[in-house]
Amino acid sequence: MRVKITLACNDCKQRNYDSIKSKKNNPDRLEMNKYCKFCRKHTAHKETK
Ligand SMILES: [Zn+2]
Repeated sequence: MRVKITLACNDCKQRNYDSIKSKKNNPDRLEMNKYCKFCRKHTAHKETK
């Protein structure tokens, strides 16, 4: 049930993080607040395919 996901910054659309999530716990798209070094601030990061 574990899948690899990529997290992309909502502001600049850069893909900054790779992660693993559980499909059981998070069936929908993950969104988390993370630091973006391109924006140089914390932004919302969304899961991409
Ligand atoms: Zn950014």
